[in-house]
Amino acid sequence: LPVVVIAGRPNVGKSTLFNRLVGRRQALVADTPGVTRDRKEAEAQLRGRTVRLVDTAGLEEAAPDTLYGRMRASSESAVAQADLVLFCIDARAGITPADSHFAVWLRRQGRPVLLIANKSEGRQGAAAAMEAYALGLGTPLAISAEHGEGLSDLMGEIADRLPPEAEAAPSGDEAGDVEGEEDERPAGPLRLAIVGRPNAGKSTLLNRLLGEERMITGPEPGLTRDSVTVMLHDAQGPIQLVDTAGLRRKARIDDASLEKMSVSASIEALKMAEVVVLTLDATLGVHEQDLQIARLIEREGRCCVLALNKWDAVEDRIATRQAISDRIETSLAQMRGIPVVSFSALTGAGVQKLLPVVRRAHDVWNRRVPTGALNRWFETMLERHSPPLVGGRRLKLRYMTQAKARPPTFILFGTRAELLPEDYQRYLVNGLRETFDLPGTPIRLLLRGTR
Ligand code: GDP
Repeated sequence: LPVVVIAGRPNVGKSTLFNRLVGRRQALVADTPGVTRDRKEAEAQLRGRTVRLVDTAGLEEAAPDTLYGRMRASSESAVAQADLVLFCIDARAGITPADSHFAVWLRRQGRPVLLIANKSEGRQGAAAAMEAYALGLGTPLAISAEHGEGLSDLMGEIADRLPPEAEAAPSGDEAGDVEGEEDERPAGPLRLAIVGRPNAGKSTLLNRLLGEERMITGPEPGLTRDSVTVMLHDAQGPIQLVDTAGLRRKARIDDASLEKMSVSASIEALKMAEVVVLTLDATLGVHEQDLQIARLIEREGRCCVLALNKWDAVEDRIATRQAISDRIETSLAQMRGIPVVSFSALTGAGVQKLLPVVRRAHDVWNRRVPTGALNRWFETMLERHSPPLVGGRRLKLRYMTQAKARPPTFILFGTRAELLPEDYQRYLVNGLRETFDLPGTPIRLLLRGTR
């Protein structure tokens, strides 16, 4: 089995994370460092793979008495065997000297590392997560093990980094592939979710895509359906419909609760997905609920394809398309250029356009902009509009780099860069979108002040 080791200084939440990933309360957790723990290993199921999960917290108390000694001794043998190390920091505490010390040591071990900013519930984790870039262990992933936030992302990131099946537990030293680890586009099927309001035609669409009547559809909201996960195939390979919870319905509930359910079901589904098809009943236009779901997609950093269903029943197609596009562009400025596909799930007309558009959106979401081209572009942007004055002094913006893809995430370095006003950020993000052809995907811009 692939070995995944949870490491980090005491009290950053290693055992809580361990319990979360194992799915049972296997280790004892407490709020004081160094509590005795009876277990340190368990098997865990992560995205269909079984891994051996090791919690180094369980080894701590046997170790020498200094903090560094404890961290080192508890982790050394575990890390040596690891296919992946989950290095945890406490986002509320920020980066401590012990974290930095441990990071330096960990980099020398040459095992793949995923950096985790734990205790990032709510907004407060963002700053420490940024700070964590300085550890040189790649892009930090913000989670809250205790509150269960970011875990689906985490499982995906872990699964993406595991050695291919049947090749686990590598022999010999495959040296320090630490940096750039997050760049890699995972193998395996594209993960797709179909979401939308009740009666938008999601089930009908799914049946169309599957080419068989696997699910029941009907005009009356109130049919009970089970969630299903299914595989589709197109010319480019498999596509997994990750979670069709949005297609589930409870019998006999009123319309308002049904609407609410469609949003919460969408959240579940889109967290599992890479690409999200937001399905609308085009005869009804864009609803506030649709925008709400789209904003969730943006917030979760997924890419979105807008599907205008029931196109057969639309009378003035040109006007409808225009009205919907206008509404989307004005209400969802953060996701300009969302690809739009119109079809009739009922008759099948136009449905064949959907998957190619999904594939293209997925490519955009995975895109990497070369650093040279990025900075040549950045310089022209600075020339065209000088960075603003803040507190009477002009901000000095120095350079940019793309930290990761999925979604495209850029870091902007400069003196007091963290003070860059929103409108200048928007100017840069819109410029990135146009110049590097990144329609429809969320784009993240992180600001990093330098001295
Ligand atoms: P879901 O709640 O989003 O899964 O929606 P369903 O797939 O159950 O569809 C709701 C209703 O809309 C059903 O009566 C479908 O037959 C109908 N419907 C779905 N797609 C289309 C379409 O493309 N055109 C028309 N005219 N009706 C459709």
